Amino acid sequence: MVVNARTKKVIVLIWLLIVPAGMWFTYHTYPPNVSGRWLDLIAFLLLTSVVASMPMVINNTPIFLIQWVSIATFLSFGLFVEIVFAQAAVIVLLLKLRIQKEQLFRLPLNFIMFFLVSFISGAVYYLLGGKTGPELINNPSAIWLATVYAFLNYFLNQVILSVYLYFIYKSKESYFGKDFIVETITTIITLPLGMVLYMLYNQGGILPLLLVGIPFVSLSIIFKLYYSSEQVNEYLQQAAEIGHQMAERLEVNGVIDLFIRKLSEMLPVDYAYIFEVVNEDELQLTRRIEGGCKELPANMPRIKKSEGISGFVWSKGKAHLYSTGKHWKRYSEGYIPDESESILAVPIVRNKRVIGVVMLASKRKRAYEKYQLMIVDILCSYFAVAMENAKHYEITKIQSEHCALTKIYNYRYFEKILTEEFNKLFHFERKVLSLIILDIDHFKAVNDTYGHQSGNEILIELADRLSKIVGSRGTVARYGGEEFVILLPDMNKKEAYQLAELIRQAIANWPFTLQQSLELTQHQVKITASIGVATAPEDAEDPLALVRHADRALYIGAKRAGRNRVAEYSSC
Ligand code: GH3
Ligand code: MG
Ligand code: MG
Repeated sequence: MVVNARTKKVIVLIWLLIVPAGMWFTYHTYPPNVSGRWLDLIAFLLLTSVVASMPMVINNTPIFLIQWVSIATFLSFGLFVEIVFAQAAVIVLLLKLRIQKEQLFRLPLNFIMFFLVSFISGAVYYLLGGKTGPELINNPSAIWLATVYAFLNYFLNQVILSVYLYFIYKSKESYFGKDFIVETITTIITLPLGMVLYMLYNQGGILPLLLVGIPFVSLSIIFKLYYSSEQVNEYLQQAAEIGHQMAERLEVNGVIDLFIRKLSEMLPVDYAYIFEVVNEDELQLTRRIEGGCKELPANMPRIKKSEGISGFVWSKGKAHLYSTGKHWKRYSEGYIPDESESILAVPIVRNKRVIGVVMLASKRKRAYEKYQLMIVDILCSYFAVAMENAKHYEITKIQSEHCALTKIYNYRYFEKILTEEFNKLFHFERKVLSLIILDIDHFKAVNDTYGHQSGNEILIELADRLSKIVGSRGTVARYGGEEFVILLPDMNKKEAYQLAELIRQAIANWPFTLQQSLELTQHQVKITASIGVATAPEDAEDPLALVRHADRALYIGAKRAGRNRVAEYSSC
């Protein structure tokens, strides 16, 4: 939820206009009567602060069980004191929520809301004839007025909050969801308790305050625990979902991208780094995201084992959580920007071996909870499995498309791109498509003379020469045996013929070196090749015909005509 600077200025302005004057007005219209009860006041303020420091956060909205104390405060000390205490509660609450600098506008925003809620409900109470102070205890009809006060208080709170969500946070979600139900229930529970607190205080002084305070603090803690366990459940569900999504990705980069993006969405992350273990004692940064979503180049120096936080996490194999800068800044090696405070660093473990490290940082102090560390840990194990699968898939894919001997593409891949290129031709994305087929002359004899292994060496060197000559102009593939194909998109027949001639000369004029001949000495072997050329669409209208026609040119035009020559297909 981003709030722009103008809105923030307007909020401060409204606060300046309403709150100080409103407080002054309240002080004069409903003067507080606190003489001789300063200690009691302090006790109430203390109780207010303790309760305010235990908010429950539901859907990013803090809810705190302050109503019961504020009802008792209002009934015992009057409107002015209640307003002042409510403002104090706002400060305690926001301190507890550790708001960041850019969120500071929430202070005046809440001051305004609490002031309006307190003031209007208090003023209505007085207008209806309600009284405040210790003597109320003897007036049973006051209970009804206090009930009206409490519900008005609650109602105004909901209305102002909805207005805020709609106009300031531009939230499309209705406020009247789960938090609304929680608020309603807590109000109904706390109203009678607020009255009990008032009565106990006015009959027995501050000691009962303490006695009531203890169960309430416990109740707040139970609520808090309940909600944090619900949040853990929610995180676990999200983690499982992210795990599935990562498992579906087949490319290594896709898995890493998804992982780092989901981490940044789930947790308060300003900086995120993923390191990979590259050898026995070095870590290499592979992804770096700063400012929440900006990806930066990861070409940073490698990190040694036990160097910096990531090196430390790697060598220990254990996750670490730092809540403020002073806990880690002395270990840091300068990767993490100085303005960060909280750090969560988790090793990525696969088969009991650390294969990488994830490091998340926030500019906020105490930004991460222990259970978030656990969630990241779980995500890291999903990540490790997904990475292994993706790597395995990529290797299998490369192997299935390449020739194991020459390392260039194989026939399967060639067929695939031949079809693709023909489709482009049909869709007029390409004008022409040429194909060169090459077959080594008398290769059987080479094998017979120097051995099969030497024949292989020639094939490897030839593949290398062809790739270098063709470069980015086309695709070289091993067609099978001692035959090679070269697919040349957007190259016309004349150009393809010239290229084929260049290739022929590059084979015939430069002998091949054999390292491993039968006699264990180096040999220079001269070979030649026959080459056929065909071009679509002029020579063929489908992929198979193009191959067939280039092959025909090779056998009839080149081999039969005496070998070591280039021939182009002609239909006659
Ligand atoms: P030409 O093409 O000029 O008619 O004669 P050739 O001897 O090259 O013809 P042929 O197609 O009859 O023989 C091809 C030979 O290539 C047969 C085989 O021993 C050899 N060959 C095929 N694949 C490989 C391979 O992977 N390694 C080695 N060393 N030789 C291979
Ligand atoms: Mg052959
Ligand atoms: Mg041959």
